[in-house]
Amino acid sequence: MTAATTVTVTGAAGQIGYALLFRIASGAMLGDRPVRLRLLEIPQAVGAAEGTAMELADAAFPLLESVDVFDDPSAAFDGTEFALLVGARPRTAGMERGDLLAANAGIFGPQGRAINDRASDAVRVLVVGNPANTNALIAAAHAPDVPAERFTAMTRLDHNRALAQLGAKLGVGVGRLSRMTVWGNHSSTQVPDPAHVLLDGEPVGFDPAWVAGEFAPTVATRGAAIIDARGASSAASAASAAIDHLHDWVLGTRDGDWVSVALPSRGEYDVPEGLVSSFPATSAGGEWRVVDGLELSPAVRTALDASVAELAAERDAVRALGLL
Ligand code: NDP
Repeated sequence: MTAATTVTVTGAAGQIGYALLFRIASGAMLGDRPVRLRLLEIPQAVGAAEGTAMELADAAFPLLESVDVFDDPSAAFDGTEFALLVGARPRTAGMERGDLLAANAGIFGPQGRAINDRASDAVRVLVVGNPANTNALIAAAHAPDVPAERFTAMTRLDHNRALAQLGAKLGVGVGRLSRMTVWGNHSSTQVPDPAHVLLDGEPVGFDPAWVAGEFAPTVATRGAAIIDARGASSAASAASAAIDHLHDWVLGTRDGDWVSVALPSRGEYDVPEGLVSSFPATSAGGEWRVVDGLELSPAVRTALDASVAELAAERDAVRALGLL
């Protein structure tokens, strides 16, 4: 029998957590290996997380070895191999951006430190809680003993939303599409770029006016459209994208394809080193590798520069608060 893998999920009692945990326990994320789940919540939500733990037990997943609930990050990250940082401080009415960054630094700094001190040497981290890119930067900065590239942030939902729009446009299932790219920050400045997309392995080519005027705004505002339609945020698709991100990280991307992942820049595509920015990337042997040598259209280059400027401003704001 394979040894169980330890997975920690923060914000476990939230909407995304509720959709995510059952898929991890079913084997959708890591394949056919037993899983030990460790759920982290703030003290007032521990009761709700216990309720989710009861439901996980009642689902009788053959791969689920145990579920434990914590309100202490050090205990929650003890020995963990996969950390999914979902819980974050949401922006509330009238809140300044600096306040939001500071509140989240107060969450992701201590979690980064706890990961540094207590997690497995092989730990891999996915930040979902917003502002996800900068939260990942903060967590990584507090974990000096963990290689920075183990801290990633999620742009896979933007990537999947883009594939869905392209599939609808072409009248094909998304399984026939490959090589979509989302660049930059997971925010309204994100840059969905379908220039390199293949259909059944062949280049497609999309009208730049449609990409700029319809496609990119639809992808970037899809979250708000879902809130309007269902009266609640896009929790299940966000959870599904988190599963896809870790699945591909661990088990590898499809041959000939790539996906979008926010990674600490090593200077690729002139993104300043250290910023956590979305890139096209492949994964093999548990390591992401940014796809190099792609040509960016002038419109994509300009949009990426603006998104990177936003990332730099977020980093500078956190630094100015002494939190980085
Ligand atoms: P959700 O589970 O819906 O969302 C959690 C985070 O994911 C938010 O930061 C949200 O950002 C982000 N997110 C990223 N992509 C998406 C997407 N496509 N759609 C929706 N959200 C997205 O939030 P809930 O309020 O239901 O639950 C949060 C939980 O986290 C609560 O139970 C709270 O107690 C907990 N929490 C735990 C902490 C901890 O473990 N230490 C710390 C702080 C909170 P956005 O706000 O931009 O929608």
